[in-house]
Amino acid sequence: MTELLFDGRRAYAHLRYLSLEIGDRLGGSENELEASAYVADHFRGLGLEVRCQEFPVLSYGLQEKRLEVLEPDLGEIPCEAFWLLGDTPPEGLEGDLLFLDSGAEEAIGPEVADKIVLVTGGVRGAAYERMMRFQPLAMVVVEARVAVPPMRVEALPEMREKFGAVPTVRITHEDGLRLVKQKVRRLRLVVRTEEIPATSQNVIGELPGSTFDDEIVLIGAHYDTAFGIQGASDNTGGAALVMELARVFAESGTRRTMCFVVWGSEELGLRGSVHYVKDLKARDKEQRQAEDFVKGRDRTELERHLLCVNLDVHGAVLGTNQARILGPADLTAAVRLLAKETGVAHEVEEEVYSSDGTPLSEAGVPSVSFSRSGGTTTYLHTVRDVIDYVGPEALELNGRFVELFLRRYVAGAALLPFERKIPDEQQKKVRDYFEKQLRIDYYDDEDKGA
Ligand SMILES: [Zn+2]
Repeated sequence: MTELLFDGRRAYAHLRYLSLEIGDRLGGSENELEASAYVADHFRGLGLEVRCQEFPVLSYGLQEKRLEVLEPDLGEIPCEAFWLLGDTPPEGLEGDLLFLDSGAEEAIGPEVADKIVLVTGGVRGAAYERMMRFQPLAMVVVEARVAVPPMRVEALPEMREKFGAVPTVRITHEDGLRLVKQKVRRLRLVVRTEEIPATSQNVIGELPGSTFDDEIVLIGAHYDTAFGIQGASDNTGGAALVMELARVFAESGTRRTMCFVVWGSEELGLRGSVHYVKDLKARDKEQRQAEDFVKGRDRTELERHLLCVNLDVHGAVLGTNQARILGPADLTAAVRLLAKETGVAHEVEEEVYSSDGTPLSEAGVPSVSFSRSGGTTTYLHTVRDVIDYVGPEALELNGRFVELFLRRYVAGAALLPFERKIPDEQQKKVRDYFEKQLRIDYYDDEDKGA
């Protein structure tokens, strides 16, 4: 039996420091920068070669948010701003309420014009485009799930630029229910936010391989949080796992190069990992054009990236484990076998996980995203994603599972047993994810024709 070194208490100490001492870490904020320095110091202390990769993001702040029910007079209802969808005038917007039974495309028509639209769950993709065409005054999004605080989320600046935007707030399911049952007719909405062009950063700690230093495996997790929340589970837990895994392998060594990465601004639209991949793609092109580059013999830096292990949502004391895989069937089989062998149960699926492994897989690098959902998963992106639900035992369980996976197939393997290949049907899912779901500007104009 392999001796495993991952220490849940050490990982938990990182989680506590990030969640409680530093606190919320919105992409582009001072706190995110402070956390990046904390991780960089840790990596340096382990003797890793550390590099910070900066990139621009659109970050934001909050001045005021208020929702008042005017007819019948029910007073104020707690709400969260939906950032980057524009502000109301300082005195607010007043309007008639229109209840939409669904945010689907076919439920939206000209009757939304000049109304404050109340809609459960939200309005996404093509439905958003249609909603904007009919120009409502504002939107109130009701949480689809009961007993959760309204989520703290933002829109993508790209969506606003392409299709327009209206001021929007989110309220609880229970408050939405009350508005509908009481046949509320008129509302006033105040949303005053700030938009802050800012810099975010990835922190990369490289541990060179002793035998195959030109083969790179990424072990990454995002370390930013949604606006103003601890994000203990999403994703301080994952960041803590990466920090402790870096210690483990810095001590025991590896045959191939391991890059431990914490990604910035994942919550703003996978900005850190997308930046990393765009940078690799640009250099890939340059390297191929170099005179001494021999196709087939030489590998570009992108081609030397063979696998990405992504850790997003971790630490729940009571929880279940998942692995989402984009890559060859052997990778899926290896995770399944390891789960059976160790008794650490995992739901294993070949699926897109909306997180930082996916941009890597779009660029041809197989990825496995490990996560653990539980208590706090209900509270993702809300003020209740707090440290109370997470603990060292769960970090150790998942940390040791990932350690064993890495020891066997990456750090110690004679040959990396997973082909660098994404099956065609998975490639299509990834492309659909970027074009229809996430909808950030991922593809440059020249890749669009491909
Ligand atoms: Zn996350």
